[in-house]
Amino acid sequence: MTLTIGIDIGGTKVAGGVVDGSGVVLASTLRSTPASDPAAIRDVVADVVTELRAKHEVTAVGIGAAGWIDSDRSTVQFAPNLAWRDEPLRDALTERLDLPVVVENDANVAAWAEFQFGAAREAASAILFTVGTGIGGGIIWNGHLVRGSHGVAAEFGHGLAVPGGRECGCGRHGCLEQYASGNALVRYARETAAADRDAAEFMLKATGGDVEAIDGPLVTQAAEAGEPAAVAAFVEIGGYLGEAMADMAQFLDPDVIIVGGGVIKAGELLLAPTRERFTAALGARAQLPTAVITAAQMGRQAGIIGAADLARH
Ligand SMILES: [Zn+2]
Repeated sequence: MTLTIGIDIGGTKVAGGVVDGSGVVLASTLRSTPASDPAAIRDVVADVVTELRAKHEVTAVGIGAAGWIDSDRSTVQFAPNLAWRDEPLRDALTERLDLPVVVENDANVAAWAEFQFGAAREAASAILFTVGTGIGGGIIWNGHLVRGSHGVAAEFGHGLAVPGGRECGCGRHGCLEQYASGNALVRYARETAAADRDAAEFMLKATGGDVEAIDGPLVTQAAEAGEPAAVAAFVEIGGYLGEAMADMAQFLDPDVIIVGGGVIKAGELLLAPTRERFTAALGARAQLPTAVITAAQMGRQAGIIGAADLARH
């Protein structure tokens, strides 16, 4: 069976693995990301590939990174957490490694992993929302990853949630990312905790009374314990996600809508309010068969597995 390497370049870690055609990771390795130095990031990627190749014969390398990748999957046009600006990553690495290399956006990679091996493996068409610090997205349509004419399709985080709302890092006001991301979850929980300390007893006990020390994992832990402020924060972001997903169902009518990213660790605490608003927002359309909303299944190795499999295809 042919083997390929998948590499997941994050803001702090570079993770790489050798993956077979069934999505099984046979070997993996991890390095720190030298995020501010483009040449050093290339060196780390080359080093990871060299290490993994020493024990396994591989035919291609796939790389997933947060950022805008051009439509022919060669150049990282912009990466928010890394020093890449118009970085010709594919050609630089192909030459250096003497292997075919593909470069893909991290959310697209995760969507592909779910489609091939995870929550959408029985589906023809699927949409992934990654809910982490920000919000990313991926679209698989009739078995193909939708990149868009310019390589930047499925940026759901920058769709409109609230006209004239909060300013977003992208320059627009009212983006979904400002209302339904992990950052928004923490903001809601802190706001409630500041206004009503009784509703946030669990969280404030954990932080010694410091509202600003409330973080995402603590909100999840508190919601699991039934803390009103934390549960309400999940209902808030789930509401905005459900509205956005109803738009997706109206536009594209997929088989499945998957929720991934760090925040899905909360499971039904997030999915239940998301589904409730989704159904309400669809109105009469909700009587017809429509997309199933479900949790991502691929976990932390989605980036490695998806990138390796895209390189194989
Ligand atoms: Zn935005």
